[in-house]
Amino acid sequence: MSPDHPGTSRADQSAIPDTVPRYNRRPVPWVAQWSGELVRKPRPRVRHEEAPAGGWRLTYRDPTDTDWWAPTSDHKPVLWRRTGTDRSGTPQYALLNTIRQRTAMTEHLCQVCGQSAAVAGGVAWLMHAIEWRHVTAPMGAVEPGWKSLHTALSTTNPPTCTNCWQIAARMCPSIREHGAVPLTVGVVRPVGVTGDVYPMGVGRPEPRHGTFGEPEMGHMMARLLVVELDDVQVYPALTSPPPRA
Ligand SMILES: [Zn+2]
Repeated sequence: MSPDHPGTSRADQSAIPDTVPRYNRRPVPWVAQWSGELVRKPRPRVRHEEAPAGGWRLTYRDPTDTDWWAPTSDHKPVLWRRTGTDRSGTPQYALLNTIRQRTAMTEHLCQVCGQSAAVAGGVAWLMHAIEWRHVTAPMGAVEPGWKSLHTALSTTNPPTCTNCWQIAARMCPSIREHGAVPLTVGVVRPVGVTGDVYPMGVGRPEPRHGTFGEPEMGHMMARLLVVELDDVQVYPALTSPPPRA
């Protein structure tokens, strides 16, 4: 999600919460990556080692305990891309900060303002219309009011609180052009990651999706958490949000 920061008028910004970060007084989505947060090395210095729980895992050459993460102790931890969180440099609106994206997904925080996206019975979401068409394509046409049960939709885009539905719809040029679908989600289930798989021998890392529990996750450097959304309620318009929790 990228705000239209050059064209956002001062009047438009008056309703934007203080918890939304700013760059040169322009609002920046809470989840966005900033250029100074990236670890700038030509290639991360990683290698494979025998994992404590068996099998192989990818490791940095100067590892720390926080380098690996999995949603539950049932899954082997996965190596995550290192990134800062100090919002230094300039905002990169089209990119998600790895740590903030994972935090927003697991703690159900709004990707715009960083506050809770909880609503009665679940979590508020605002899905870009293009992504919505993609994830619901197997089900055919989905109308407002549709409610899924046991029909998981997967995404890497975190929640958006109901207070920020209108803000996102107003500030993001792509949503203004294509639209977005407001949802509430009863079940948010971490299922995997997107990242790069590093081969054991020679060869370049390859981008791909991985599912927690599969052996190849031992060779993965994760960049974004993938969650499945279940018990999804579709709302017809941005002007009729559900009650806050
Ligand atoms: Zn928000």
